[in-house]
Amino acid sequence: MGIEEKLPSGILLTSVEKLVNWTRKTSTWGATFGLACCAIEMMAAGAPHYDLGRWGMEVFRASPRQADLMIVAGRVSQKMAPVLRQIYDQMAEPRWVLSMGVCASSGGMFNNYAIVQGVDHVVPVDMYLPGCPPRPEMLIDAILKLREKIMQEPLGANGRKMLEARQARGDVPAVAPGAMPSSYRSDAAKRAEWTQAVKEGREEQLRIEKWMQEQRHLQAGGRW
Ligand code: SF4
Repeated sequence: MGIEEKLPSGILLTSVEKLVNWTRKTSTWGATFGLACCAIEMMAAGAPHYDLGRWGMEVFRASPRQADLMIVAGRVSQKMAPVLRQIYDQMAEPRWVLSMGVCASSGGMFNNYAIVQGVDHVVPVDMYLPGCPPRPEMLIDAILKLREKIMQEPLGANGRKMLEARQARGDVPAVAPGAMPSSYRSDAAKRAEWTQAVKEGREEQLRIEKWMQEQRHLQAGGRW
């Protein structure tokens, strides 16, 4: 039985917002991005026992241009952070990020210089999934919750209203495109560098490059 059997004959009324969100939530494809042990659970979620194929998601895309969901499965090392950001930048809009496990979400037990203490320092996160490791059922639950969130996303005039209300509250995400970091505002040369990077559309790369350069272990020639 196909979907046409469920549809009433006659006219179907809905809003463009609901229709677009429905198509977006039912067509999410994951980017291949396993970083550590959590990735094994992510792979299990795609395998026949848990079968992400029930939501059309069992094939993780090797090309970021064909993916709209990045599942960060595992700890993010300082060296991997710019790579992760580059893959995120290569994914087409709209795109979402799911931080899988405590390591990706907060560094977890790896409270040290080598691990980024939360992937939200590098990319904006839409859904955090706790656990070490989270089981495949938990990942599927997080994906379903993210789908609900996508379904409620305001678009067009509603989306603009939401952004204006956020800006009025001063609630601008630290990683918003074009948002100048505070360390740049206080320095004229860095301000100019940032403005130039915004013009060239590479401000996020500049942010990450500078952040990496400031790490003492990289200043010493990139050795750990
Ligand atoms: S949360 Fe646990 S399972 Fe996941 S990457 Fe960290 S240590 Fe590994």
